[in-house]
Amino acid sequence: MGGGIIGLATAERLSAHGLSVVVIDERGPAGGVTGASGGLVRALDLSAAHSWAAEGLDRYLRRGHHGRWPAVRETGGLTLFGADDSARAAEGVERVRATGHTAELLDARQIARAFPGLTPPEGFTGVYEPRAGWLPARETAEAMLRDAGSVTFLGGVRALEIVTARARVTGVRTTAGLLTTPAVLLAAGVHSTELARTAGVELPLRTRSVSFCVFAPRGREGGGPEGGGPDVPGPLPTVLDTTTGGWLRRWDDGTAVLAGVPSPVLDVLPTVTRGVSAAEEERVRAVARHRYPRLADAALVDGVTAHDALAPGDVGTVTAWPDPYGLVTATGWNGGGFKQAPASGRYAAELVREVLA
Ligand SMILES: Cc1cc2nc3c(=O)[nH]c(=O)nc-3n(C[C@H](O)[C@H](O)[C@H](O)COP(=O)(O)OP(=O)(O)OC[C@H]3O[C@@H](n4cnc5c(N)ncnc54)[C@H](O)[C@@H]3O)c2cc1C
Repeated sequence: MGGGIIGLATAERLSAHGLSVVVIDERGPAGGVTGASGGLVRALDLSAAHSWAAEGLDRYLRRGHHGRWPAVRETGGLTLFGADDSARAAEGVERVRATGHTAELLDARQIARAFPGLTPPEGFTGVYEPRAGWLPARETAEAMLRDAGSVTFLGGVRALEIVTARARVTGVRTTAGLLTTPAVLLAAGVHSTELARTAGVELPLRTRSVSFCVFAPRGREGGGPEGGGPDVPGPLPTVLDTTTGGWLRRWDDGTAVLAGVPSPVLDVLPTVTRGVSAAEEERVRAVARHRYPRLADAALVDGVTAHDALAPGDVGTVTAWPDPYGLVTATGWNGGGFKQAPASGRYAAELVREVLA
């Protein structure tokens, strides 16, 4: 249930093991949060106990299991740490290296020299991962679905209820009728809460606002390198600033910069819309300009107002429920589900296969 990046990564793995899989999505593939994702991928994820981000990056760099997913835009990825946090940066380098990926520690001067647009304050350090970057999220999800050749995708079909008998999953009631199945993977984002409840499972997810702005920096001295137009000069890695949570990357067509700053606002409507409010634009600009000053007077050219599902404890989890037996949930990704989807999907598929065995 759910044809976002998590459901599709799981479906692809299940079909690779020869299982008969039906994906139900009330919209279409990547029609929810995934379609709005910034698609940043890197190995470093200090918030997680496991190394799913590193496993995810590895799989993305291999372009999936058959070499057919879109290629990672290997701009490099920089995770910034404040002056009082250099020990965590050093630990981050070690953690990345322990997963087999490359990482190096850069000081503020090295960062400014390598990436002239960035201005980390003196004392800041960065964990630089040369093979990190970003992917077009929707195209990647669609490529996963293509790889899952035998999967039936029921787009435009709404799941209404998980049907159980004697504490076991027996099916899913949908707007297209009843599907009989001994196992259900519930990956419907924040809507998983109401669907889990139909099987007597409490999955207390909330929505957290997650948005980004697309800024087109003005050309130098009123004109770009060719005498006009937007201008994002020089190399620009994906950036995650752990002191503010702010993140940015070059926009898909190279002429602009996508920037987001985590919002504390919870319980927003679970919708995805194009554009951002003036207040959001100012909130993001006020933070992002301190690391990338060209954003101070850049024109807002695009943006997304969306959300992600937030679980208690802030950590996304994959769980096989004992009651009803046959239910596996994969939810609560809190703005970071894309980078680890190949790993969480791999794990969710393992749990589903155990249930069936
Ligand atoms: C603006 C933004 C930027 C982001 N940037 C990054 C990033 O750079 N890197 C990163 O790692 N993560 C990022 N994320 C987070 C990441 O995109 C999400 O964690 C991830 O896409 C969640 O995937 P999902 O499959 O759980 O949810 P979704 O993609 O929302 O999939 C759930 C699906 O379930 C379907 N559904 C719901 N209810 C029903 C029902 N009753 N019946 C049928 N179908 C149903 C929906 O239509 C939807 O398609 C970002 C998120 C946002 C919003």
